[in-house]
Amino acid sequence: MSILDFVFPKFCLGCGFLGSYLCPSCQKQIYRLKRQRCLYCQKASYLGLTHPGCLKKLDIDGVVSLFYYNNLLKKIIKNLKYRLATEVWKEFWQALNPEALKPIVLFKEIVREGVIQPIPLTKTKLRERGFNQAELIARYFQKFFNLPIADFLIRKKETLSQAQLKSKKERYHNLRGAFSLKEKNIDLSGQKIVLVDDVITTGSTVKEAAKVLKRAGAFKVYTLTLAKG
Ligand SMILES: [Zn+2]
Ligand SMILES: [Zn+2]
Repeated sequence: MSILDFVFPKFCLGCGFLGSYLCPSCQKQIYRLKRQRCLYCQKASYLGLTHPGCLKKLDIDGVVSLFYYNNLLKKIIKNLKYRLATEVWKEFWQALNPEALKPIVLFKEIVREGVIQPIPLTKTKLRERGFNQAELIARYFQKFFNLPIADFLIRKKETLSQAQLKSKKERYHNLRGAFSLKEKNIDLSGQKIVLVDDVITTGSTVKEAAKVLKRAGAFKVYTLTLAKG
């Protein structure tokens, strides 16, 4: 125990138990994803790479997610606070099975020279929440990849979950224009970009972000998320 533990006592982010950010009993409730899948056909694929036959021009080239999304992970993400984020993540990873990190170690080989782009929040949402969870997670992933964090995108509107929307038209308008480039005429030719978000469900949000980046010339766009819903 260090002096810091007295000044800032640690509480489990999942259940509030004193002593660590992730208590042993909560640790057991985090399950790593054992198989990565192609975002477009949902069939298994090595490192979540999009099958060549599934990949269209503005599509995402691959998605890696580490854990199954559940209530505990939801709570942990919600409880992340900027000041403690690095500490928390350090402990978080240490507590988990090292196997869980294997996909990112392999993924790193594919990405090599690229940049990490957290999925941004709208200004309103950021003000409301006080922090962007995708950015915190990106900062931690950055330690593994040793890649710079980019700031190419702005989020112009919040999107609803596509599953909540009934008509095709509603779905189309929900996502259209959700993202745009921060610098209008930026040339992303040859860039490899790794989009980072906390959770992926249908993938519609990251797909939309990828389109914007690829239209600006991005060579490859991958996605890395902490959890898969
Ligand atoms: Zn706990
Ligand atoms: Zn596929």
